[in-house]
Amino acid sequence: MIKRRPLVAGNWKMNGVKASIAEFGRICEGYDHALRAKVDLLVAPPATLLSTLAVVALGSRIAIAGQDCHPKPNGAHTGDLSAEMVADTGASAVIVGHSERRADHGETDARVSAKVEAAWSAGLTAIVCIGESRDEHIAGRTLQVVRHQLTASLPEGVTGADTVIAYEPIWAIGTGLTPTTHDIAEVHKAMRHALVARFGAQAQAVRLLYGGSVKPENAGEILGIADVDGALVGGASLKADTFLPIARAYL
Ligand code: PEP
Repeated sequence: MIKRRPLVAGNWKMNGVKASIAEFGRICEGYDHALRAKVDLLVAPPATLLSTLAVVALGSRIAIAGQDCHPKPNGAHTGDLSAEMVADTGASAVIVGHSERRADHGETDARVSAKVEAAWSAGLTAIVCIGESRDEHIAGRTLQVVRHQLTASLPEGVTGADTVIAYEPIWAIGTGLTPTTHDIAEVHKAMRHALVARFGAQAQAVRLLYGGSVKPENAGEILGIADVDGALVGGASLKADTFLPIARAYL
């Protein structure tokens, strides 16, 4: 039986300017010995803060991640960042396929899969987001949608060392709504089953995060669900006062 170390990851989205560096410093200070013994912490700031936070994070053992990368290694792609550029900032991971990028930039599963390969080539861990829409949830199609996205958004060769999956129901992101614990457990069980069926026993080491309106008040319940190996946190990751108590659910 593989033991997976929990991961609480913060996605700052399009939030954060130089003034936010002090808040990140508070997150680093709060990641104390007791927390470090139990749970990994990661923050994905906007690209403008990647290099700075990577330096501030030195010594704290908090990992830094990009929020996206381009599938190509370089070229005429104005405004984009390659995975190598993300890695060059000192980041060790990159989020790919977040539902906001899928919606705002028309990202397909195939493109997400290509980004995962780009991330791996640059030595980054890919944090791959999948999740159903509100309509799909209401229609009872959640498992079908999630299984399909999982298949189509992942290239061959996934291991626990290079990939993390975040199940993020779109209707739960930033809404204050969350699925029932039963529903989260069912999806995570189905994801684990699908991963092991495709990638073999090594997929037991892949961490499966839940994301969508995780906050200090519900963290204990959600992070206690079988096969939930941590959380991807949006809004509540912006402040040490709300981010750290989520991680402390593991103490
Ligand atoms: C997210 O953006 O990945 C997310 C989970 O956001 P929130 O926690 O704010 O719902």
